[in-house]
Amino acid sequence: MALSKHINTDRLIQQSSDKKSTSHSHFANLTQGGAQTSVSHAYCARYGTSPIPKYHIPSKGIDPEAAYQLIHDELTLDGSPLLNLASFVHTYMPPAADKLMIENMSKNLIDTDEYPATQIIHNRCVSILADLWHAPSTQNAIGTATTGSSEAIQLGGLAMKRIWQEKRKAAGKSIHEPGPNIVMGANAQVALEKMARYFDVECRLVPISVESHYRLDPKKAMEFIDENTIGVFVILGSTYTGHYEPVKEMADLLDEYEAKTGNSVPIHVDGASGGFFAPFATPKLLWDFQIPRVVSINTSGHKFGLAYVGVGWVIWRDKQHLPKDLIFELHYLGSVEYSFSLNFSRPAAPIIAQYFNFVSLGFEGYRSIALNDLKNARLLSRALENSKYYTVLSDIHRFDPARSLGATVKAVVDENDVESYVPGLPVVSFRFSDELQQQYPEIQQKWIQTLLRAKGWIVPNYELAPGLEKVEILRVVVRENMTEVLIERLVNDLIEITEDLIKRDSPMHALDALGSAQATKHHEKTHGKLDEGHGSASSGTYAKTC
Ligand SMILES: *Cc1c(COP(=O)(O)O)cnc(C)c1O
Repeated sequence: MALSKHINTDRLIQQSSDKKSTSHSHFANLTQGGAQTSVSHAYCARYGTSPIPKYHIPSKGIDPEAAYQLIHDELTLDGSPLLNLASFVHTYMPPAADKLMIENMSKNLIDTDEYPATQIIHNRCVSILADLWHAPSTQNAIGTATTGSSEAIQLGGLAMKRIWQEKRKAAGKSIHEPGPNIVMGANAQVALEKMARYFDVECRLVPISVESHYRLDPKKAMEFIDENTIGVFVILGSTYTGHYEPVKEMADLLDEYEAKTGNSVPIHVDGASGGFFAPFATPKLLWDFQIPRVVSINTSGHKFGLAYVGVGWVIWRDKQHLPKDLIFELHYLGSVEYSFSLNFSRPAAPIIAQYFNFVSLGFEGYRSIALNDLKNARLLSRALENSKYYTVLSDIHRFDPARSLGATVKAVVDENDVESYVPGLPVVSFRFSDELQQQYPEIQQKWIQTLLRAKGWIVPNYELAPGLEKVEILRVVVRENMTEVLIERLVNDLIEITEDLIKRDSPMHALDALGSAQATKHHEKTHGKLDEGHGSASSGTYAKTC
């Protein structure tokens, strides 16, 4: 008999499990339709509970301890957050922070009247960030916590759109024909494009190039700007390569443009990562409210703000840049409060965790973590380049020609001094070197992702943004818990895997199976998910884990 080429594993399991003697049993009904829709589990025996339906609520609940164990066990199949080098999101806080968060787990940030102390801490965080980013007056700056940078970016973009509309109306011009547009690099994170699409703003993506360091090219951006441009999103820390986009250069060009045309185009800085990194690692770098054209900045508290997932921030340089129309007066449960956010309820605990970091780490604590991240990222970058198997696209391990000018005169560059290097995020983006590709054209870079995963490491392999979409990169985000020891292990594993591929007679044969294992669709993975093709076509920009 010929072997089947496709087995439905749900049906396979159903066929293979013990059958009840009567087909009219409740259990048999549940399993009709080809899929295993309920699970019995080992703890059934211990706790005497019945199998649990997978896709509808059980009529009777089970013992909390059994429920805990069951869900806990299933979740161990997730990757380890520590080894998730694909993500910018922070995964470690000290036990004292965990305790504080658990104590405040049930508080809702919106209940300002009930939790006034929480509200005061929230407002303090806003002031601390406004001050860190050099707002002209922390009194006049205004801002709010959000669930992350994505919500913060929607708010920043909306404010710019409203201000453009008000200006157009005041000048007696149409706000519809033509409508508003917003300009950003094609390397933009998906949240930026979402803002444009969700709020009916034309998204103008500026292609990237090797010369533009895989990020926004301000000169090219000027070709996309006109009187209907509500603003430019400038990214402090491109998700692809960690490069900072040149905020000052963009602002200078927009100054010239305003002098020529009278059109004032504001900048919103997407500092999702950099907003919490640059002020500590490279405090002299000019990117924030010191540049008058920067009207608003967002950041993710849960990235280099070093809090757990669930907190972001948006700050406007002063109240005049946040249209009143977006601010709601809440006469809810007591006092009057002002709200300008997309969510109503949100957990207070991540905001408390953010404040914990400000207090417990202080400027020096944040700085030393940032410098350590960069040091480890440089180690990884150099190891990859020295191996000759890889080419590194990120630049934080290269001496900054502009900044180390003085040092070259002295003929020594201090390798430990962060100021000697190109500023950027502790991100290492790399690809197979040209030599390796020429000598071993049959080896595919995506196999590295799969083979690393088998060792526990999660390192994504994906295409660069439009303009350079033919180039695939592997990317490692070096966060606080990616210690030197782990970097050494990663380098070891990477080199071992690469050499294994080189040495094999036919890597194709050995690895094709691995590549396709990932593509297999299992019912459980797809249940409740949209089918492929259900979303709009990919614009090719960043829509991966971050
Ligand atoms: C992560 C990221 C975002 C989205 O932030 P969330 O906090 O995940 O919502 C937006 N922009 C950039 C540049 C990012 O790195």
